[in-house]
Amino acid sequence: MQIRDRYAPSPTGLQHIGGVRTALFNYLFARSKNGSFILRLEDTDRTRFDQSFVQNLYDTFSWLGFRWDEGPDTGGRAGPYIQSERFALYREYAQKLIDAGKAYYCFCSAERIDRVRREREEASSKGISRETGYDRFCRSIPAPEAAARVAAGEAHTIRLKIPLGESTRFHDELLGDIEWKNEDINSDPVLLKSDGFPTYHLANVVDDHLMEISHVLRAQEWLPSTPLHVIMYHSFGWAPPVYCHLPMVMGQDGKKLSKRHGAASIDEFRCQGFLSEALINYIALLGASYEEGKDIYSLDELAARFSLEKLNKAPAVFDYKKLEWYNAYYLRRKSDEDLAALMLPYAVDAGLFAAPGTAPDTGQKAVFTAAMPLIRERINFPGEGPDKLRYLFSDPPLPAKEEFFPRKADLSCTVELLHSGKACAESLALAPNDESAEAFVKAFAGQNGLKLGDLLMPLRVAITGSRVSPPLFGSLRLLGPEKSLFRIDRALTYLESGRAAD
Ligand code: GLU
Repeated sequence: MQIRDRYAPSPTGLQHIGGVRTALFNYLFARSKNGSFILRLEDTDRTRFDQSFVQNLYDTFSWLGFRWDEGPDTGGRAGPYIQSERFALYREYAQKLIDAGKAYYCFCSAERIDRVRREREEASSKGISRETGYDRFCRSIPAPEAAARVAAGEAHTIRLKIPLGESTRFHDELLGDIEWKNEDINSDPVLLKSDGFPTYHLANVVDDHLMEISHVLRAQEWLPSTPLHVIMYHSFGWAPPVYCHLPMVMGQDGKKLSKRHGAASIDEFRCQGFLSEALINYIALLGASYEEGKDIYSLDELAARFSLEKLNKAPAVFDYKKLEWYNAYYLRRKSDEDLAALMLPYAVDAGLFAAPGTAPDTGQKAVFTAAMPLIRERINFPGEGPDKLRYLFSDPPLPAKEEFFPRKADLSCTVELLHSGKACAESLALAPNDESAEAFVKAFAGQNGLKLGDLLMPLRVAITGSRVSPPLFGSLRLLGPEKSLFRIDRALTYLESGRAAD
């Protein structure tokens, strides 16, 4: 069998974690089976449709870096892939069900349907009857009479004839065998509305069949629709696809993941500085387990390992901290150039190089790129970098004098230490790498009977403006001897100012 699956979003909102997880699992399943992954836009709900959501869908997936084999923009043998371009087909297939006696015309007005629904709900809440929804009033109209009324132009919908007194069974690859009593299924649902538009159910089933979808992997919230879809397949005389309803994605509180828990749309994660590799890797583990003890997977590795047996029945819990861990992991593996490119917009906004919004000149850009090794291990998001590097581009404010003091040292001792630091600064700034800088400074401390930590603390504060900073030797090298000495002199003047009064 040729494996074909699909992601069938309704463009009524931004792409979020749940949707992307569904798309990703379908993509991985198709790849793992040498099959085809299809994108279909289910835009039958025209009131909630917005073109910007379609754009968001394309932008999101192009950023995430995985693609469909067939779809609205790619084309393919089963197109068009946008449901609003297929309306004539749905009418044709609804008519086929009428002709086969599996569906019927309904002439009930919206008012009548509302009234009946209300009355039946009331009766059911009082325990008088179990039946809710539509009362199948038009189901008994003889077919020729109904056809004549349609021919005469009477407004109508088309409803599915749910077989009464039976049950519907299907198999779910994850959840096992499932059986629903037909009386628990929405009573004779509308397939084609009075304006000729299909309902979601009709369009979804007709398209899955015509697009030869072999596997439907979708969110568990669609499980209650599946018995109805199976009945429709049987009514058409078609074989249903293989179903697999994916484990739910919850927040830490056990409720379905939503905005309440934090970011949920991919746009938000992207704006916060999450990398696409981190999101893909993390989302692929939401509800699936691959190898014990292995957390890191590329898209290709996932495709090679994915199978429906790897899915978990239990809901997946979305852990923002774990996603952050993935982000840090992938940030750490970026080249200096790539990391600098990711961080540059934040640095420009933060006014690192001049006034906010100003791009770096060539020299600043080179320093910025060369500074990446200093902070790569210290950030989880690209946006956290620029502030940590500000001291490389402008002299940092001088902190309180005590900030310069090594442990147990007073002001005059600190001043002495900084004079020693000054004596080392030029050699450190010119050292070719950390190792030679360290060897030099250790030897210097030894010769002068100084503790290394005591020697370096005032120097660090003079150069970076803070006791906690990116590595000192790298900073000295990037600043160069001239700027380094200037900052040390500036700090000495400051520490020595008003000293008599101290
Ligand atoms: N259009 C539905 C959705 O928005 C598709 C459900 C399905 O995959 O069958 O999720």
